[in-house]
Amino acid sequence: MAEKFDVIVIGAGPGGYVAAIRAAQLGLKTACIDLFTGKDGKPAPGGTCLNVGCIPSKALLDSSKYFYQLQHDYSAHGISVQNASMDVPLMIARKDDIVKKLTGGVGQLFKGNKITYYQGKGKLKAGRQVEVTPVDGSEPLALDADNIILASGSIPIQIPNVEFDGEYIVDNVGALDFASVPASFGVIGAGVVGLELGSVWNRLGAEVILLEALPDFLPIADKDVSKQAAREFKKQGLDIRLGTLVKSAQVKDGQVTVSVEDKNGESQLTFDILLVSVGRKPFTDGLLSDDSGVQLTEQGQIQVDEKSRTTAAGVWAVGDCVRGPMLAHKASEEGIAVAELIAGKPAHIHFDTVPWVIYTDPEIAWVGKTEQELQAAGVEYNVGSFPFAANGRALAGGHGTGLVKMLADAETDEILGVHILGTNASELISECVVAMEFQGSSEDLASMIHAHPTLSEAVHEAALHVDKRAVHRGN
Ligand code: FAD
Ligand code: AMP
Repeated sequence: MAEKFDVIVIGAGPGGYVAAIRAAQLGLKTACIDLFTGKDGKPAPGGTCLNVGCIPSKALLDSSKYFYQLQHDYSAHGISVQNASMDVPLMIARKDDIVKKLTGGVGQLFKGNKITYYQGKGKLKAGRQVEVTPVDGSEPLALDADNIILASGSIPIQIPNVEFDGEYIVDNVGALDFASVPASFGVIGAGVVGLELGSVWNRLGAEVILLEALPDFLPIADKDVSKQAAREFKKQGLDIRLGTLVKSAQVKDGQVTVSVEDKNGESQLTFDILLVSVGRKPFTDGLLSDDSGVQLTEQGQIQVDEKSRTTAAGVWAVGDCVRGPMLAHKASEEGIAVAELIAGKPAHIHFDTVPWVIYTDPEIAWVGKTEQELQAAGVEYNVGSFPFAANGRALAGGHGTGLVKMLADAETDEILGVHILGTNASELISECVVAMEFQGSSEDLASMIHAHPTLSEAVHEAALHVDKRAVHRGN
């Protein structure tokens, strides 16, 4: 007899584990199934985000940032350090420890919320039956539930003629685990993951070249931000080659030779290690039986409507395996919304106010529309901006690079987008998300008191500047 639950969640990433916890909080008998095994051989719920994504990359970004600042920035403060060195295995062990604490924490939360956890592969069959194949090789288990939430996440896209080998040609998993700093590090794709992981190893001394097929740098960001960011990254030593298409890569004698095509024709480059970070695709291998009733889109995403319902009754899907940005917080919010809908509560997601963050130094963060998107849509808008070079707190900390740019509707003054390049942009953007959620205007932010001296005063000044009355810059 199949064990019966109210809700079964397949996948314990930020979409799945959050959905499971919310479902359990709402009094639903919940199970969660995930495959992940940690480096210590133990179950590691938390998905890509906690194991090989958001958290480990931020741990290495922070470690490498301190090392870089020690060498480049601290002397201006009067701090001198001779012979600074980086113990890479210790840095990696610290990162692993953080991952273990957090995945262990999810396990504890599951116990605390009385969620039944299965470490194995879940497969959805017809009639909301689920088969679990445990990773320990024991007999498959049969479960069923009134509602199923699919949260199977994503995996890296592979490009033709560039085969991952986990040692010389790696994905994000490999690039978070080097034993030493590679002398030369090639990165295919100057997107979010490529910039973050390229920054880590560049700061530690690798010669880093990013090969990007598109002619423009970071086209998803506002142009004022991406232009200034490109200049900063160049100063830091990141060699970003735009309009450069990677055609193939081959490993020979411990080196990777990459064939690229750019405006000058075809040429070859050689690296110690090559990271392929050309985006991610939904992961649905082995997830659905032929008669599950769940349909995929042409892009391989699980097809869902605006309420995250799939084409099979009582089956929902959230996170990277469905449409929308592949971001952890988007996955989690969908997970919460679905759990609440299952429990009969009203819930919806505002895709227009999902914040984006790139954790380079300076950080890049935005919410809402870029100026280019507004122009393309024919929307009339006003712009305000403020440079961190004129912000006292930023200067005191040595963080005078970057700006805040705010776009507001020309008629109603409603904030349509905010774009930040600067230290702690990841935190500053939250104020703008709140303002936009409440359909706030630039005038609303301009009339709110911001503590002095803080970086948030740059957001305040950008809001004032929409109406050309910023105090600490010419209007
Ligand atoms: P995942 O986290 O991918 O989790 C899915 C889980 O389901 C996995 O554990 C998988 O093993 C399991 N699974 C799949 N199929 C089955 C099955 N059939 N049975 C059982 N289990 C299954 N996003 C941010 O918002 N901020 C960041 O800073 C950030 N940094 C990133 C850095 C890197 C290097 C990478 C690669 C990604 C980063 N992301 C970041 C993206 C973020 O990791 C994803 O958007 C997020 O993890 C998606 O969550 P999810 O729950 O949909 O899927
Ligand atoms: P992201 O989706 O943010 O991780 O970005 C991935 C980047 O990789 C995009 O900017 C793509 O244009 C880029 N890209 C994809 N394929 C190739 C390729 N063969 N050579 C160089 N860049 C590529």
